[in-house]
Amino acid sequence: MVITLTILVILGSGASEGIPALNCRCESCQEAKRMPIAKRMPTSILVLSKVNFLVDVGFDVMNKIGDLDLEFILLTHWHPDHYSGLFRLRWSSRPISLYAPKEGLIDEFKREPRNLKLKFVQPYETFEHEGIKITPIPLIHKIETLGYLIDDGNARIAILFDGRGPSNRDVDLIRSFGTNLALIDATNHPNFYDPNHNNIDEAIEIGRRVKASLTVLTHIAHHNMPFAELTSYVRKFEGIVLAYDDMVLHL
Ligand SMILES: [Zn+2]
Ligand SMILES: [Zn+2]
Ligand SMILES: [Zn+2]
Repeated sequence: MVITLTILVILGSGASEGIPALNCRCESCQEAKRMPIAKRMPTSILVLSKVNFLVDVGFDVMNKIGDLDLEFILLTHWHPDHYSGLFRLRWSSRPISLYAPKEGLIDEFKREPRNLKLKFVQPYETFEHEGIKITPIPLIHKIETLGYLIDDGNARIAILFDGRGPSNRDVDLIRSFGTNLALIDATNHPNFYDPNHNNIDEAIEIGRRVKASLTVLTHIAHHNMPFAELTSYVRKFEGIVLAYDDMVLHL
C-alpha cells in the first residue's frame, strides 16, 4: 500500500535575532528563559515528502536535521537568518540543488559553493524537482524575496515569509491554488507598520483571504507579544494558529 503523506516540521519560527535575543530583557525574551516552548530559532522549514527538502536554513539547522537524506533547498532570500546554515550544508558529500533568487547572492557562495548546485529562480516561473512542482511568488522585503507555492501531488503548501505581502493579486492566485497549508510572515506586533514585514493583524487578514485549510503565522520577532499572550490572541481566529519551534504538521 502506498501511503501518501507530507510532513512539515517548523525547525525555527523566529526572526533574525531569535528568542531569547542575546542580553535582552524584554517580556518575550524573559518568558522564553522561563518557558522553553517560547524559544524561537530563526525561521527554517523541513518538508518530508517524495524527497526531503528545506525551506531556508537558519544558523543551527544541521543540529536539528542530523544525517537526514536531503535532496534540495529552497531559499527565500539572501539574509543571514535564512542562509547561514548553508555554510555547513555546502559540505554535503553529494550535490544538492539550491533554488534561490539571484539578487543578493553572497560572494562566498558564488566563490565556493562546494556541493550546492545553485539554480536561480524567477517569480511565477514554475519548476519541478523529483515530481514536486514549485512556483515562486514575490514578497516585499529589503532585497528580492520569494515565497513558494509547493505542490507535491498530495498537499499544496504556500510559504510566505519573510516579507510583507503577498500582493492582492497573488492572494487570489494562492486561494485558487487550493492551499492546504499557508505559512505567513507575522513578524510584528498588531498596529505596527513595517514596510518589510507583516504585523500579526495583517498576517491574519491575509490568512483569511487565502482560505487555506490551516494558516500558521511565523517569523515572530521578540518585540512582538510574548508567546502565551500571542497564542491566545491568534486562537480567536478559526483556522489560524501560531507557529512554535519543532511544530510538526501532517498533510
Ligand atoms: Zn528573516
Ligand atoms: Zn527581547
Ligand atoms: Zn529578511
